[in-house]
Amino acid sequence: MNGPRLVYIPPPLLTMKALTAALSFACLTVVLCWRAFAAETVPDKLVVLTFDDSVVSQANYVAPLLKKHGFGATFFITEGFEFLVDKKNYMTWEQIKALHEQGFEIGNHTRKHAGVTKQMPEQLAADVEFIETRCAEHGVPKPVSFCYPGYATSEGAVKLLRERGYQFARAGGAKAFDPTTDEPLLMPQAFDGKPESTLEQFKAAVAQAKNGKIAVMTFHGVPDIKHPWVNTDPAKFEAYMQHLKDEGCTVIAMRDLAKYLK
Ligand SMILES: [Zn+2]
Repeated sequence: MNGPRLVYIPPPLLTMKALTAALSFACLTVVLCWRAFAAETVPDKLVVLTFDDSVVSQANYVAPLLKKHGFGATFFITEGFEFLVDKKNYMTWEQIKALHEQGFEIGNHTRKHAGVTKQMPEQLAADVEFIETRCAEHGVPKPVSFCYPGYATSEGAVKLLRERGYQFARAGGAKAFDPTTDEPLLMPQAFDGKPESTLEQFKAAVAQAKNGKIAVMTFHGVPDIKHPWVNTDPAKFEAYMQHLKDEGCTVIAMRDLAKYLK
């Protein structure tokens, strides 16, 4: 006797309507993924402001002026120099926390401000971790931006920073940052504010921020009483900031570069 026969019943064919819907969904997925992962185009006149060494004038004078202009900035914090004993000239952690709460970025400039080339890897790791811990103690997010003390860099430091999750690190130099050729953990500065710096030099640095290049500006105290060799007078600083305003620059913190560098 023959058993029951299995009859194959094919699934219904996709109708044109269903096919169109499926294709539309696939296209939408591709577009959304592209938006999520592709970097934004670097606009001309993109400027990053950075301030080193935890100088008190950065909290008292710089931050309110930047707020007035609607500018972002990164403050690179160290407990080096006389940070621990001279609270007349160096910020307190309450002031640093307040900078974070105002929307500015807090970056890592190491515990002791020692040059990375003069340190053993474990010493550097400890000094980097120390600032991360101090940030955590004060409700400040773990930094993603780093600044090399004295601008000295090393391959070992780049490796360590990468392993610790840092995205950006600023060194010295005198050129605009080109994300297509420059390592973000060895980012050059376009301008280094010194007593002898001029508005013309600042304007020339800003003018480099075009064709995909970004001008990263370095300042210390405004003024900087304890480090007169990196002092910027407030009147001069106001002229610099006014130039950024007049030029219609996009002025951001270093961490905000992430969307352009994916
Ligand atoms: Zn420094």
